[in-house]
Amino acid sequence: MNPVFQIDFGAEERVVGIDLGTTNSLVAYMDLTHPSVIPGEDGDRLVPSVVSLGRGGEIIVGNQARKLLIHESSRTVYSIKRLMGKGIADVEGELKLFPFHVAEGSESVIRVSLGEKTFTPPEISAMILRQLKKNAEAHLGEPVTKAVITVPAYFNDAQRQATKDAGRIAGLEVLRLVNEPTAAALAYGLDKRKQGIVAVYDLGGGTFDISILKLHDGIFEVLATNGDTHLGGDDIDNLLIRIGLEDLLSEWGEDLSQDGEAVQLLRRAVIEAKERLSFAPSADIVFELRGRAFTRTITREVFEKLIVDIVNRTLGPCRACLADAGVTPERIDEVVLVGGSTRIPMVRAAVETLFRAKPHTDLNPDEVVALGAAVQAGILSGHVEDQLLLDVTPLSLGIEIMGGVVSQLIHRNSAIPASATQTFTTGVEGQRNVLIHVVQGERELVKDCRSLARFDLNGIPPLPAGMPRIEVRFLIDANGILSVTARDARTGVEQTVEIKPSYGLTDAQVEAMVEESIVNAEADFRARQVAEARVEADAILAATDKAKQSDAYLELSDRERKDISAAINMLLLAYHSDDHLIIREQIEKLNAATMALAENMMNTAVGRALKGKKI
Ligand code: ADP
Ligand code: MG
Repeated sequence: MNPVFQIDFGAEERVVGIDLGTTNSLVAYMDLTHPSVIPGEDGDRLVPSVVSLGRGGEIIVGNQARKLLIHESSRTVYSIKRLMGKGIADVEGELKLFPFHVAEGSESVIRVSLGEKTFTPPEISAMILRQLKKNAEAHLGEPVTKAVITVPAYFNDAQRQATKDAGRIAGLEVLRLVNEPTAAALAYGLDKRKQGIVAVYDLGGGTFDISILKLHDGIFEVLATNGDTHLGGDDIDNLLIRIGLEDLLSEWGEDLSQDGEAVQLLRRAVIEAKERLSFAPSADIVFELRGRAFTRTITREVFEKLIVDIVNRTLGPCRACLADAGVTPERIDEVVLVGGSTRIPMVRAAVETLFRAKPHTDLNPDEVVALGAAVQAGILSGHVEDQLLLDVTPLSLGIEIMGGVVSQLIHRNSAIPASATQTFTTGVEGQRNVLIHVVQGERELVKDCRSLARFDLNGIPPLPAGMPRIEVRFLIDANGILSVTARDARTGVEQTVEIKPSYGLTDAQVEAMVEESIVNAEADFRARQVAEARVEADAILAATDKAKQSDAYLELSDRERKDISAAINMLLLAYHSDDHLIIREQIEKLNAATMALAENMMNTAVGRALKGKKI
């Protein structure tokens, strides 16, 4: 296996690790031997992922911006992560939940309006990143230009790309995107295990994610992910707010549910009480509004009765994830807790019961992803030496060639980044464009593989079949994004597509695909030989047909012409045989029969048409 880090990232420049969260964001770095979270100007390690546009046009990020959610709600945005890499059509359901205005940009790009200005989601995320960069520079006393950023394991290519764009806009070179659950496992040093199955349970502010990772020799592989994009601490807060409003109605005789300021103040009060309840048997909700005060004590027992449904809603996705990963709870070796809401003792207990393993809780659950990102950053900058974090491609990647057969360029389990180039040619006379069909899987025939993308390479000069040279290059970067480039060597015209090959595939599916290929190996091999023989038969039949129009054909004797006709008929008969040897035998006979004809022709397309793989 090749080491992943062949690139020299320059002399000792520090790389930071960033958790760009829905609710909170953090930056961390490798401090000699340990990852460490960098505090912000106000001493807080968590930077709320909230951005506000001040009246003077200044950008306000974090705790300060969060305070403005009450009075400056039209100039303040939160949960921007939900809009990253999305088009308007993707977020219609989401928009009902956002109080801020979302304006449609050109080409259906979302623009979020903050007061009189509008910004794209990556631009807003970049404001958060810029704040984290500033915090890191102030703390470290040196410029920071390189980062590792974490993303949910289920993020697709567009969402990953948007995250990288945000980094670039913020003046950060994003060396790598790391899956959040992988980062959490890294923070606990689980990569030191030889092998094992790790469950990462992440209950944050607004989202719940469960991931099951497989570890082998320091390689993390995401077996399956599941979750709920609208489940988290916010749901608990909203429940407590509703109860608080009812209490206030009976106590003060006033319905405050439409009073924005009152609701925001109550939100603050219930969050404080909720967070204290994780460590104390009871806590007070203390609410003050315009000189009046209201207090209510809530015990952990009552609290647990209130939230039991919310906690239970996380269990279904966990079971589905186990099923997708094809593992039983007994096979889980390690459980990692991520997200502030996993501080709640009842959540911990539920996780322990489900996975039958004591979860790791030594690190702060809301810091663990950033800490893992810092470990990865340390590896990339050379600060951590003995760790080699490899990712592999779970399935082979290739393109369709003539006859519906796959030509593999990158084989399964190749260490990434990886690249491969192969040269192909055309199968049809005068062909001006080729269809590049990118497929994934272990089977020989395209119909048994997974189709990833199709695109055309146009503008090939018309030439006899077999003459053009089409270079196809596959490149998988360290983030697992595949780009495929097809290039006509003669003219230099090229076309590229980017694909996230692992997106939407569970490990169970990957395993099934590999297994099928083993079960069908023999039949597939035979089918491929037949398909290839038919492609050759097509080529020689077409070439012979063409040759028959030439003067050279007229120069042949009657006997020679008869032999050719007979050989053509025999090949046409053999063509549909499912034994490639029978087809090949007749190809050889036609070849022999046309020998003199081919020799007679100056431009023997017959011979040439048989060379090279044809797309
Ligand atoms: P995200 O990953 O979505 O950005 P975090 O992991 O930072 O979010 O989690 C934020 C959530 O964790 C909030 O709902 C917050 O109230 C909750 N939280 C933080 N500390 C505690 C605690 N001690 N007890 C219960 N919930 C907590
Ligand atoms: Mg998080």
